[in-house]
Amino acid sequence: MGLDQSSLEVMTAFQAAVEASALCEKIRMDLTVGGTLLKSDRSPVTIADFGSQAVICKMIRQKFPHDVIVAEEDSKELRKPDHSKILERVTDYVSAFIPNSSSEEVCSWIDSGSNSLTDRFWALDPIDGTKGFLRGDQYAIALALIEKGRVKLGILACPNLYTDIHPLTGEKGCLFLALEGKGSFQMDRRGMNKRPIFVSKTKNPSDAIITESVEPDHADHLTHHRLAEKLNISKPPLRMDSQAKYGILARGEVTIYLRVPSSAEPGYKENIWDHAAGSIIAEEAGGRVTDVLGRPLDFSSGIKMEKNQGILVSNGILHEVVLRSLEMG
Ligand code: AMP
Ligand code: MG
Repeated sequence: MGLDQSSLEVMTAFQAAVEASALCEKIRMDLTVGGTLLKSDRSPVTIADFGSQAVICKMIRQKFPHDVIVAEEDSKELRKPDHSKILERVTDYVSAFIPNSSSEEVCSWIDSGSNSLTDRFWALDPIDGTKGFLRGDQYAIALALIEKGRVKLGILACPNLYTDIHPLTGEKGCLFLALEGKGSFQMDRRGMNKRPIFVSKTKNPSDAIITESVEPDHADHLTHHRLAEKLNISKPPLRMDSQAKYGILARGEVTIYLRVPSSAEPGYKENIWDHAAGSIIAEEAGGRVTDVLGRPLDFSSGIKMEKNQGILVSNGILHEVVLRSLEMG
């Protein structure tokens, strides 16, 4: 039986994402100096990563004590005596959301993460788009529930993403939620003002807008540019960090999300937590998600998506055209 909006899984994941999103924004605001984050000091992102993972794992564990959570962080570094100050700060932030948390509890919640995939598991990226977080740009908290290799539920919290297509007037902070077979939805950062979202109906490739990573090491911008030229796409690409790219595609703001592996690392294998939540949000909004060779994404073989190469997300209508263009090189 499928999940619905009132399932315990959905309620738990949703609450966890709202709390983690507030925690990450609090850290980002507190550690901002004169409007810019301390770029040379990675501690803000470290604290936010650990804090977000602790809160989400604790909330999932409480309701689903036997579920496996495949997550990016563990507490090994945090437990080192040299990092005691960081652990103290993580614990303080977590305590603001889960009162009276001890450092030992925080470490044990972080360590609920596992490396081995089972029939049913949660995939968590506590902060996706670390570089965006540090720059004051986009980042996401990404949580998905996967059963027998299929994504059943995906949640993306994008605390710094404008809620509508008019970025200058719109409020900041979005939550995207999708359930298999039940559509995709966007809410504000508190989970209010829910509305269904749909991909764009753009049929003419030349009207498309491509979104891609900000970081040139994460995707081959030159190949993307050549593809845009071939398809007569005149609008410049929209560069954005994190799985927020899936969210803006799902709500029809862009048409194609391209992630051809960069020439610096052509054999790069994607992590499941970097795509599981985003992919169901794009698909349930009417989009299509494959790798750059047109193969379905593999969420069952391991943490690394060994059977895939790069990522292509589209509004569905333009998928084959893009695949053919990529094929021709
Ligand atoms: P984005 O913000 O879309 O550029 O993606 C951020 C994610 O890129 C991070 O979560 C990393 O897991 C992932 N990443 C790191 N190195 C690479 C790489 N060489 N190619 C593609 N993705 C990468
Ligand atoms: Mg990530």
